[in-house]
Amino acid sequence: MAYQIIPLSIQATDNIACPHCHQDIINWQEEQYIQPCEHTLFIAMDIGFEYITDEFEQTMQKTVDELHANDDVVNMFEEISLSTYPNYLILKSDLGAAGYSRYIGLTV
Ligand SMILES: [Zn+2]
Repeated sequence: MAYQIIPLSIQATDNIACPHCHQDIINWQEEQYIQPCEHTLFIAMDIGFEYITDEFEQTMQKTVDELHANDDVVNMFEEISLSTYPNYLILKSDLGAAGYSRYIGLTV
């Protein structure tokens, strides 16, 4: 296992900051609330990806287009965990709906 999961105990409406540069990667004060910093590898939910770097996508078994085409059967977290990316962090937070989570992948 090349990743480490860090569960965040926050509300679904709270901003999420990068532990390295402290930029708000999820920033609800912005109209575009997805604000990836240079450390961000991906931003995903159980139901799909909101952001992914080419570098990280190349380490996954399937492309994001393939995953989104099959989003009724695909488990996004499982697909993330199959990545061969050498070492990364996942910030896991509650989406506040139906047990869904958001996963933010970061470089170490
Ligand atoms: Zn950062």
